[in-house]
Amino acid sequence: MENANGENHGALGDAHTHIGKAAAIAGRDPGEVTLVAVSKMRDPADIKPLLEQGQRVFGENRVQEAAAKWPELKAAYPGVELHLIGQLQSNKADEAAALFDYIHSVDRLSLIKALGKAFGKAGRSLPCFLQVNIGEEDQKGGCAIDDITALLEAATQHGVNIIGLMCLPPADVQPAPYFALLRELAQRAGLSQLSMGMSADYQSAVQLGATHIRIGTALFGPRD
Ligand SMILES: *Cc1c(COP(=O)(O)O)cnc(C)c1O
Repeated sequence: MENANGENHGALGDAHTHIGKAAAIAGRDPGEVTLVAVSKMRDPADIKPLLEQGQRVFGENRVQEAAAKWPELKAAYPGVELHLIGQLQSNKADEAAALFDYIHSVDRLSLIKALGKAFGKAGRSLPCFLQVNIGEEDQKGGCAIDDITALLEAATQHGVNIIGLMCLPPADVQPAPYFALLRELAQRAGLSQLSMGMSADYQSAVQLGATHIRIGTALFGPRD
């Protein structure tokens, strides 16, 4: 829904309406679902309208980009919670620990070790998700399903608090079976949080138990 200035003031409200409907179908409380507004590749001018509407939870996929954009926005809008949703290089762990509040993309032992050290140095430990390569695709980030148990043990050992599982299902196929599988894997591991669902499929993800949905284009329009 665009107004005369071409701004999309209705998108956030629409997303909450859809989340509410999907939660109702599944008998869930919509308050259990955190909408992470994915602001990668968006300018502060595009982000401010959402902040003005009260949105405080945002997702970025690059440390450098977030470091350039967010300190100023955070100062202007108290209460911002920043989620790192993209792949993280171990040599950026310190910077990520200082800038972000959650990390969704923990997927390997070397990164777990680097984050354990970074959290120790920073004196703050961020809640993290273990990213799972749920479709077992060669090119995708995320750990193998068979490695989940060992990585969770390593995380405990290195002081990295894994609160749930995250996935990006394969493109161009029905995502629901992958969401259901991720939920099953989280249950088996005793984890309560699920980061799954993007603009095209978040309603299905909410029906299947998502606690964190990561939505970009449905809020901001297409990325160019
Ligand atoms: C970009 C991105 C999203 C948001 O995708 P949209 O289709 O724009 O909603 C979600 N999760 C991750 C990991 C992303 O990189």
